[in-house]
Amino acid sequence: MPTIQSAEILQRSRELKALLNPCEICPRQCRIKRLEGQSGYCRMTDTAIVSSILPHHGEEPPISGSHGSGTVFLSGCNAGCIFCQNYQISQLRLGQRISAEKLALEFLKLQQADCHNINWVTPTPHLPFLIEALAIAVDRGLTIPIVYNTNGYDRLEILQLLDGIVDIYLPDVKYSADVWAEEFSELPYYSEISTIAVREMYRQVGILQLDNRQIARHGLLVRHLVLPEGTAGSRRVFEKIAAIDPQIPVSIMAQYHPCYRAINHPVLGRRITATEYRHVLNEFDEVGLETTYLQDIDGLERGDPYLPDFRKPKRNIFDL
Ligand code: SF4
Repeated sequence: MPTIQSAEILQRSRELKALLNPCEICPRQCRIKRLEGQSGYCRMTDTAIVSSILPHHGEEPPISGSHGSGTVFLSGCNAGCIFCQNYQISQLRLGQRISAEKLALEFLKLQQADCHNINWVTPTPHLPFLIEALAIAVDRGLTIPIVYNTNGYDRLEILQLLDGIVDIYLPDVKYSADVWAEEFSELPYYSEISTIAVREMYRQVGILQLDNRQIARHGLLVRHLVLPEGTAGSRRVFEKIAAIDPQIPVSIMAQYHPCYRAINHPVLGRRITATEYRHVLNEFDEVGLETTYLQDIDGLERGDPYLPDFRKPKRNIFDL
């Protein structure tokens, strides 16, 4: 639940909307006039576009809990990952335009369905509209936490406008080497930009805090997807997170599987092996990070189809 009043949230949405014309909402700074119908890299213009809104049970245990995370899957993306599992939403931009008023009602419906939070997936290009909807929903009784579920390619100046609004930051840190970030995801300067973004998120909310039901209420949880051939640069990613605070929890995901433009790719055209995943877990320990969520390593060894089965944290996270 935001710590600032709805009038202040609405004011932030106006400030963000002004940054659409020309658009400087994300690090690409395309500088096209979205409110006049122009579109830049992400192809978004003057409203939010959503693909689906539903209680989702496939996130990490403190996010999904027992009743699900109230997830809003937004269309388009400011990245161009050739292996995107959601490419129909992110790259083909399937979805429907939705007004702030209607979106606010959807947030309230998710709360009425006992979801533990409102989880905005790939929110960055849609931020002004999401924040406007949030102001309306807070006025009408929304109290559950807001989750900002992002690829980590976020501008510091924009994140600063979310201070007091976002309760839980759930950023990816995808790569430590810009060469792979550009080649596989079209993300220039990703390493530096994502590190600055995570540091600002940590400044705002600190490490993840759970209630007595082990549900996240507030804080930062970083995600890292292990890629074939070590191309995610996992050790260096962990070192950067540890330099901010070794208590920041990291979800280390084994679920990579080739799809979209990665099918038959010379590097990304296969799943990771159990050996590769174990190697990354060893790196996590060696770097001195303390808390992680893991996925099913036995399934990798059996060659099971991908299952987003997050196990319990390796070490306990603080309760409130
Ligand atoms: S939000 Fe979209 S249009 Fe705006 S700068 Fe980013 S990629 Fe470009």
